[in-house]
Amino acid sequence: MSNFTDILRSGVNILFPDICPVCEYRTTDNFLPICSSCMRSIRSGSIPVPASSEFVTDIRVCRAYNGNLKKCIQQLKYRGKRRMTRVFIELIREHFSEDLIASYPVDLIIPVPVSTERYRLRGFNQSCLIAKTLPLPLLQLIYCGNLIRMRNTPPQTGLSKSERMQNLKGAFAIKCPSGVDGKKILLVDDVVTTGATLDTCAKELLSAGAYEVHGFAVAKTLR
Ligand SMILES: [Zn+2]
Repeated sequence: MSNFTDILRSGVNILFPDICPVCEYRTTDNFLPICSSCMRSIRSGSIPVPASSEFVTDIRVCRAYNGNLKKCIQQLKYRGKRRMTRVFIELIREHFSEDLIASYPVDLIIPVPVSTERYRLRGFNQSCLIAKTLPLPLLQLIYCGNLIRMRNTPPQTGLSKSERMQNLKGAFAIKCPSGVDGKKILLVDDVVTTGATLDTCAKELLSAGAYEVHGFAVAKTLR
């Protein structure tokens, strides 16, 4: 955001203070959409053990999908509050340190796609917005539109990983296999539960010739 926009926003904030959508108290932070107290509680949240996966080499996650982080992700997905991605920028900055970027060589970053129907309804793909919050060297590798979602799947809550994999069969496809052939890929999603979505996408990418697939999600559901 430019300095001018920041100054303008500070002025507007004095007259019409922002309300933190998490705790509903006033917030004066010009960058973050939530108050510092809610951000602190997200920062101090537990870092879950990553999900195991058959087709994804490793799955990294920032924090557990609960409390204030869950509220932020829901505000983005179901209320269209794109500014919530700024919360994720803070977490991802801590997660992807400079050293980690250097030691994490991928050729492409692919956000897990949503169906055309959901995209039209929501107006964005949350995984794509999250991928765009990654640090600059990684930002240049984002590749959308090749991995596509063919259909929506029924709600997955309460299902085991194998049931979810079954549900997701045929849900994803690769438009142009040569675009992923021989590549090291980082798949990005908002929330990982059993890892079934990442695994299904990775299976498609590996079948299309990808060399290996890593996974990253902002949050992981605790089961
Ligand atoms: Zn708050």
